[in-house]
Amino acid sequence: MPIHIQTPLIESDAFSTPDQRIWLKLEALQPSGSFKLRGVGHACEVHAARGAHRLLSSSGGNAGLAVAYAGQRLGLPVVVVVPESTREWPKMLIRRQGAEVVVHGKSWMEANAYLMAMRLPTDAFIHPFDDPLLWEGHATMIAEAASQGPKPDVVVLSVGGGGLMCGVLHGMHAIGWQDVPLVAVETTGSHSLNAAIAAGNLVTLEAITSIATSLGARQVSKRAFEWTKQHEVIATTVSDDDAVRACLDIADEHRLIVEPACGAAVAAAMQRNVDVLCTAANVLIILCGGTSTRYSDLQAFAFPSPKTTSSR
Ligand SMILES: *Cc1c(COP(=O)(O)O)cnc(C)c1O
Repeated sequence: MPIHIQTPLIESDAFSTPDQRIWLKLEALQPSGSFKLRGVGHACEVHAARGAHRLLSSSGGNAGLAVAYAGQRLGLPVVVVVPESTREWPKMLIRRQGAEVVVHGKSWMEANAYLMAMRLPTDAFIHPFDDPLLWEGHATMIAEAASQGPKPDVVVLSVGGGGLMCGVLHGMHAIGWQDVPLVAVETTGSHSLNAAIAAGNLVTLEAITSIATSLGARQVSKRAFEWTKQHEVIATTVSDDDAVRACLDIADEHRLIVEPACGAAVAAAMQRNVDVLCTAANVLIILCGGTSTRYSDLQAFAFPSPKTTSSR
């Protein structure tokens, strides 16, 4: 029994037009709130079968939460090390799954270094995006989507470190969708894939300046970049504002709260700022979800208070 669940594929009447059907793969409905559970759940199961005694993560976001959920299901202890800057809400979500949250260091680098130093040979470290086990797990959403709806003319998804992208492309090639273009969406300020494609090699962004924190990998994985030479991948960016506006539309029309990291993919599809999005009759959008944004956060993003200076 996999740790993730099968999610619905819905035809969005709200986002479709007479000449274009929009299909949403509702990964936001995974029990941990994002698609991450597919890959992370698979990786944790494999490590448990190999005899791991404990699961480790240095993600205070949806990856860490997925590890916590998987550990609970597998009966394995989980330690998540996060930097001091991590907000209360994600820490609470992780603790609620029975995991131990250790706060250490000013930045993710320090938290991760601390985790690596405490790592025992019997521990399994679960990477948030760069691991073939994750990609195998993420790929299951494509086989599932193929059994639920038509073959799309284009697939649209968000890119952080590129784990979702590697998994989806792996899944597409496994079922004969290698001719379907992929639109890879980042927000401006988290655009490490767009920058790599423009430069012709991997690029490390100086800083992440987007509110879409789940897309905040300063460099995409090598495998994600390699895929851009083996498949028609069209990278594009949207603004934070557009991503937030899409989140509000998703909330209004589909009654789901998702992170701007997820709204970004919907925003790009709605803007049709890539040629293939103008001609595609069927568009499959991975609604990747995310737990860091509560409805109050979404309102604050959309209508920042004029009185206080931004804390972002
Ligand atoms: C992790 C995550 C992403 C980005 O996934 P990558 O595998 O890092 O590219 C996008 N959206 C949400 C909600 C996420 O949790």
